[in-house]
Amino acid sequence: MRKVFLYDTYEGKKREFVPLTPGKVDIYYCGPTVYNYVHLGNFRPTITFDLLTRFLKAIGYEVRCVSNYTDIDDKIIKEAKKENKTEKELSEFYIKAYEDCLAKLNILPLYCHPKASEYIDRMASFIKDLEEKGDAYQGGEDIYFRVKSDPSYGALSKQKIEDLDAGARIDVSSKKESPMDFALWKLTDDDGIKFDTVVGRGRPGWHTECVVMVNSVFGKPLIDIHGGGFDLKFPHHENEIAQSEAHNGTRLANYWMHVGFLLTNGVKMSKSLGNSILAKDVLTRHTGNAVRLFFLSTPYRAPVNYTEEALASFDKIDNKYRTALTKATRKLELASLKPEGTLEEDKEAFLAALADDLNVANALTVFEKEIKNLNSLVMKKDSDLSLLSKTLHTALELADILGLAYPIAPLSEEDKKIYEEYQSARANKDFATSDKLRPILMEKGLL
Ligand code: AMP
Ligand code: ZN
Repeated sequence: MRKVFLYDTYEGKKREFVPLTPGKVDIYYCGPTVYNYVHLGNFRPTITFDLLTRFLKAIGYEVRCVSNYTDIDDKIIKEAKKENKTEKELSEFYIKAYEDCLAKLNILPLYCHPKASEYIDRMASFIKDLEEKGDAYQGGEDIYFRVKSDPSYGALSKQKIEDLDAGARIDVSSKKESPMDFALWKLTDDDGIKFDTVVGRGRPGWHTECVVMVNSVFGKPLIDIHGGGFDLKFPHHENEIAQSEAHNGTRLANYWMHVGFLLTNGVKMSKSLGNSILAKDVLTRHTGNAVRLFFLSTPYRAPVNYTEEALASFDKIDNKYRTALTKATRKLELASLKPEGTLEEDKEAFLAALADDLNVANALTVFEKEIKNLNSLVMKKDSDLSLLSKTLHTALELADILGLAYPIAPLSEEDKKIYEEYQSARANKDFATSDKLRPILMEKGLL
């Protein structure tokens, strides 16, 4: 198998990817809290891990990629009340809206898309285990994780327990032993969604939801890759690791990958800051391919600034790619040929770029080269059709790995007939007919 290098935030360096099981990769990245329409930034991790999945599949791995829906959360309870809906009605509505965007962005179907609400009993018994081991305790109306019981706490976010302890202040109303401790379960009988479980009536905390979903969906305590946006590194992922270390003695994932922020005017796009641009709205103004290219054109760990102009420029690029691929397809169809074969050297350069911690910029250079070559092969009268066929096939393969969708409907029989009429009119010097047919064929992209 090809060598792949990924930047692992836990180790703080790029390192060779070695799967737990040869030939197989398990990936989990944190999904949205579904209490309203998600903003464009929420799709940056989605697109990044979709690219990683597509690339790993292309080089022969069997990939199980999973992302969750956080459908139990205080924000959901609040919003459901406001909209006069049950929490389930509210979250299902926004999950559907999210999935419409996934389809427009051409995201591969996930191995599984777990919802926190479906794993409540497992979460409760996980917390009970922690209590029995002495890693969790009840303080007032919450069950907390005892951070001091994990000596490696802070390893992911490179912080020392002593510094965190000194830096944090304890809320006077809190029943925590230490300010760093975090809630695993809220014991409550309020009018929000709640469950009767082995740890009592109430609902789980976000950090427990993810670690239990990872364990349950994959059926094991350690997976290959865990990811999300940079904002999740601390405290969310740190707290997932702490629970996993305490419960299972593992750091939950061998590689931790974090994706840079989407910014608006230099500030992180965020629901709470009120500077969100909704993904669903962006996808009515721009193609899914343009949005994907917009994100892929910046290294995934670096921040990227949202502007309408930038997205519009990627619409143009998307259109340029589509036109070249369509024209090349038509030229082959009219010669009764199909795209076949692979330009191995180019594909090798493309995959080698992605194997270097998803260096999309270098991969795109190879793809752009194919587009340029297609354009010149299409223009030439007596072009090498077998080279055209190979170049087109290679370009379509690379587009697919990048997740760019170019569905090209086959040429209709009627269009083929018009083209043949045009050719014979020209051969017979019947310019009146050929002049009449030319604009029709040009409009259809056949000339
Ligand atoms: P949330 O619903 O806020 O928990 O976010 C869902 C996912 O989107 C997480 O992986 C976040 O890290 C990610 N995310 C949120 N805001 C941004 C942003 N501005 N840029 C990139 N990723 C983000
Ligand atoms: Zn999570």
